[in-house]
Amino acid sequence: MSDCIFCKIASNEIPSTVVYEDDLVIAFDDLNPQAPVHTLVIPKAHHENIIDGVPAETLAAMTHAVAEVARIKGLDEGFRVISNKGEAAGQTVMHFHLHVLGGKPLGEGLI
Ligand code: IMP
Repeated sequence: MSDCIFCKIASNEIPSTVVYEDDLVIAFDDLNPQAPVHTLVIPKAHHENIIDGVPAETLAAMTHAVAEVARIKGLDEGFRVISNKGEAAGQTVMHFHLHVLGGKPLGEGLI
């Protein structure tokens, strides 16, 4: 999608702090971190959200990327993965992404 900011990050048109990358996915640090570690994992292909026909192979690559982010960032004590779907849930960038959050105690609540 030509006007999608995450597509532009995936194609290196917009710079980002890349944490991990393979053929299907890229992980980069969030511009406005909500925790000491806040990295986004996205598919390189454009899918609007988690239920927008993301191929199983891509979902598996994203899971692998989450593990790599956790390893690279040293999140041995645990981490949280969140994906917002839709504006009502707080989605502001309409390109599927997983937030990987950690590096501090996150508490027991979901939000
Ligand atoms: P959402 O609110 O779940 O859609 O999350 C979008 C996230 O993308 C937010 O946490 C933003 O801080 C982050 N974000 C937006 N633009 C950029 C960027 O150019 N680089 C890195 N992160 C970004």
